[in-house]
Amino acid sequence: MPLTIAVARERAPGEKRVALSPESARRFKDLGAELRIEAGAGLSSHFVDADYADVASAHSLEETYAGADVILRVSPPSPEEIAAMPVGSVLIGLLRPFELPARLDALNGRRITAFALELLPRISRAQSMDVLSSQGACAGYQSGLIAAARCAKFFPMLTTASGTVRPARVLVIGAGVAGLQAIATCRRLGAAVEAYDVRAAAREQIESLGAKFVDTGVQADGAGGYARDLSAVEKLQQAERLARAVAAADVVITTAAVPGKAAPVIVTEEMVAQMRHGALIVDLAAETGGNCALTQPGEHVDVGGVHIHGPLHLASRMPTHASDLYARNLYNFLSPWVREGQLAFDGADEILAGALLCRDGSTVHPLVKHVLGEA
Ligand code: NAD
Repeated sequence: MPLTIAVARERAPGEKRVALSPESARRFKDLGAELRIEAGAGLSSHFVDADYADVASAHSLEETYAGADVILRVSPPSPEEIAAMPVGSVLIGLLRPFELPARLDALNGRRITAFALELLPRISRAQSMDVLSSQGACAGYQSGLIAAARCAKFFPMLTTASGTVRPARVLVIGAGVAGLQAIATCRRLGAAVEAYDVRAAAREQIESLGAKFVDTGVQADGAGGYARDLSAVEKLQQAERLARAVAAADVVITTAAVPGKAAPVIVTEEMVAQMRHGALIVDLAAETGGNCALTQPGEHVDVGGVHIHGPLHLASRMPTHASDLYARNLYNFLSPWVREGQLAFDGADEILAGALLCRDGSTVHPLVKHVLGEA
């Protein structure tokens, strides 16, 4: 029997992406895999059923998952969706392991081999599979557009018959993949951009995009190329130095994250109080609590004339390209292990081992086990 890969419609509220694009379906087919997709699964990404030529169509979740060997997803499956997965099948997707521990128990109850793509090692060989990067780029781009659309000022400098308009001042806090894309987008729109990150490598990347680096003197490189948590002293120093830049900005875009932890609060209530009337905060970290103390996830709040946006599902605002890139990442992750229509994982592979969350009824990822154990 050839390998069967199944993709159901994403049912999480606000999720518009799909894990299989027509292009990735063709490429999996060329590897000899059988594909099954639930009718309408691509519609919110604007892929109609007819675009999936040669892919079997199913008409319910149960029919989609029945007998599947591999299940591809974007967002974590609900308990009902997990119950529909065949015992012993392979699940690949963004599984939010730190936030949804009960789901891990449900996956283990069905002995699902689960790969969480947010755990993928950030090594060169894994770049083509890196969903955090592809989706972070979408989110960063969208944050720049939201900022420009909501800002009370022009982003670019304008020389008009009525006189010259100075460019808007944007401050980006956190210059990972999303932050760098936010910087690039705001720069393309002509804003004067400053940016800040605690990782040493970020300075050069910020400057290469034509933005000015805000130096707080705090450097906090952690394991695996990520930032670490700041100490109380470092937080104070960061807050003191950053307060001036926040107060001077027309727009603050925040993207700071530490894996396995709630987003660090960087923009405090006191800093917001110092911002000018009409200034704007776009908090990309809203999904994990927010980098601004006053962010309400999914809401837009007005605090004394400062507008604070906590947008969710940013990649779903551009679902066609977000799904295209996500599906390519999935193909690049899975395809090396599909030979003549059969799946043969190498358990010793660094990338597979790094992303492996659950196997044989247990949660096996060391960091997830450590964080959940602490909790
Ligand atoms: P992320 O989403 O985990 O965090 C966003 C940014 O927030 C990071 O740059 C982080 O340094 C920063 N941050 C955390 N705490 C902060 C604080 N208190 N103040 C200011 N900034 C803070 O990061 P990401 O975008 O996923 O990227 C993480 C790292 O992985 C980066 O070094 C990136 O270059 C690297 N990366 C490697 C690959 C690869 O080689 N495969 C691919 C993508 C990213």
